[in-house]
Amino acid sequence: MNNLRLTNSLSKKKEIFKPINPQNVSLYACGPTVYDSPHVGNARSLIVFDVLFRVLKILYNSNVTYVRNITDVDDKIIEASKKNKKKIYEITNEITKIFHENCESLNCLKPSVEPKATDHIKEMKEMTSSLISKGFAYENKGHVYFAIDKFKDYGKLSNKNLDDLKTGARVEISDLKKNPMDFVLWKPSNKEDPGWESPWGRGRPGWHLECSVMSEKYLGKRFDIHGGGLDLIFPHHENEIAQSCCNNNTKNFANYWVHNGFLTFNKEKMSKSLGNIISITKAVKKYSGQVVRLALLSSHYTQPLDWNDQLLMNQESVLKKWYNLYTNENNNNYEVDEILLDDLNTPGYIAKIHELYNAANKGDESKRIKFNNACKLIGLFNQSKKEWEDSKKSKISVSEDYILKKIEERIKAKNKGDFSQADEIRKELSSKGIIIEDQKGKTTWKVK
Ligand code: AMP
Ligand code: ZN
Repeated sequence: MNNLRLTNSLSKKKEIFKPINPQNVSLYACGPTVYDSPHVGNARSLIVFDVLFRVLKILYNSNVTYVRNITDVDDKIIEASKKNKKKIYEITNEITKIFHENCESLNCLKPSVEPKATDHIKEMKEMTSSLISKGFAYENKGHVYFAIDKFKDYGKLSNKNLDDLKTGARVEISDLKKNPMDFVLWKPSNKEDPGWESPWGRGRPGWHLECSVMSEKYLGKRFDIHGGGLDLIFPHHENEIAQSCCNNNTKNFANYWVHNGFLTFNKEKMSKSLGNIISITKAVKKYSGQVVRLALLSSHYTQPLDWNDQLLMNQESVLKKWYNLYTNENNNNYEVDEILLDDLNTPGYIAKIHELYNAANKGDESKRIKFNNACKLIGLFNQSKKEWEDSKKSKISVSEDYILKKIEERIKAKNKGDFSQADEIRKELSSKGIIIEDQKGKTTWKVK
């Protein structure tokens, strides 16, 4: 078996993946902050790590623990609750539910553990106390900060030196900090905000602390792969490394840092703050989960990918074609192809699926099963052919009766020689997503 290679953001190189314990491979991916409906940029991250999880499961005989957290305490959630006049738990419950529905429609496997930040406050307080007692953190007026000067490797992941960081980054300015780059482990909450009693008064944890605590709890002080989008390298992942390595007196935290590139929209990063987002719910409704998944896998995970209707329409027609050779026969013989082992080269793998399709289309039954397995390996073909076709049908806005009535009118028009009216009817149906075909004196219809 050939080895899996991954681009490690720590070394900026493609490296052979060697797990600490092949009997229990460990993967942590930063999950959503549940304050607003997830968008297709978030879906890219979800799908990239879902494919990685699927590949690892095959390579290591399902001996993989995949942790993806839910951040349910955060300033953005507090803001959303004030803005929408809803209680915090109403927002976090509602968005978590939408997130789970989205994961299901994108056919993402459930992670092994999905810890919520608010269930780990005790451990977060313990880690904060421990960092203070070891001299890596200090308290000032109810705030606890991590002193970055105490960690000589700070900036190693993002490849920044402290001077770059001071000038380039958005850092929270505060007189309470010794160094402007120090980041918060614990901060005070006022009465109406969510808060927990602590040695430093009533307060709440900082975001970075959440992931250090939850990854250690479920994967240990050192684990294999930590993932997330590129935007998390700094400060989030840099700060996770600082907290965990200092507290545990270790040189390494995660051995491989894997980051997905941005999904852009008109070449700008898709993000809630820029307001250029398309929600997963909306995209899935318009195109289906499988089409969105295929589109998001159509470029290499390290590269940017631009979202546009053309991309989605192309993937839709690919899947429509592929479904001609769908079979639910399954020999469960999933093998990870060399192309996918090479840094999860999904565009290369999709090209290979096209080749398999072409071979299978010539009638080679063994290729047909291989083709189906290849699709299933990256999470496609989770709907039967009938479900896929029905889901397309349910998207059209007109009833079957209406279509048949229009076809009848068109036949009459043609019989009268009124071809322009017949053509109008065909165009009108086409605008509603219906194609009509005349064959051997019979007219049939199908969804575009
Ligand atoms: P958030 O809920 O904003 O913390 O994001 C959840 C995950 O989605 C993180 O791993 C982000 O890095 C990732 N993410 C957010 N926006 C994008 C984007 N436009 N393209 C790719 N990944 C993104
Ligand atoms: Zn995180």
